[in-house]
Amino acid sequence: MALVQTNQVFPNRAPQYWTAPAVPAVQQGIAWEPLLWTAGAVGLALLVAKAFENPGPVRRCGICDRAGHDARTCSQNPAKRVRLRMVKTGHCSCCKRRFRRTEAHHYAGPADGNKGREMCGTCHLVCGHGGDYRNMAANPLYCRL
Ligand SMILES: [Zn+2]
Ligand SMILES: [Zn+2]
Ligand SMILES: [Zn+2]
Ligand SMILES: [Zn+2]
Repeated sequence: MALVQTNQVFPNRAPQYWTAPAVPAVQQGIAWEPLLWTAGAVGLALLVAKAFENPGPVRRCGICDRAGHDARTCSQNPAKRVRLRMVKTGHCSCCKRRFRRTEAHHYAGPADGNKGREMCGTCHLVCGHGGDYRNMAANPLYCRL
């Protein structure tokens, strides 16, 4: 006899019946697994696209916070201040008035000796540096006085 019943082999034991393992209740309606796979694939594709778009983190200058150069080459670096090469005429280039004493303003930053303009003391502070010499140098398009 090929089929041996367990109660014949182990007569003391109650016959054991194979029962199917508990199957988790199948969710009706939405098949979640393929959806999750799709979401994963889309997420991966987005990540890859982003990586191609942005090769490495953008390095910003520690002084002016602009990208494309560093503090060593920054024209706004006060430690690299150079004298402006310009001849004063006694005219403020900002408010267009004549002054006995004018100042030279590094409008591209103190480290750039080629970009300067003559300004009166008030324009230099108010128009060139936004009211505080600790602000970065700017090249005002119009006079704010
Ligand atoms: Zn900079
Ligand atoms: Zn002025
Ligand atoms: Zn200045
Ligand atoms: Zn001005």
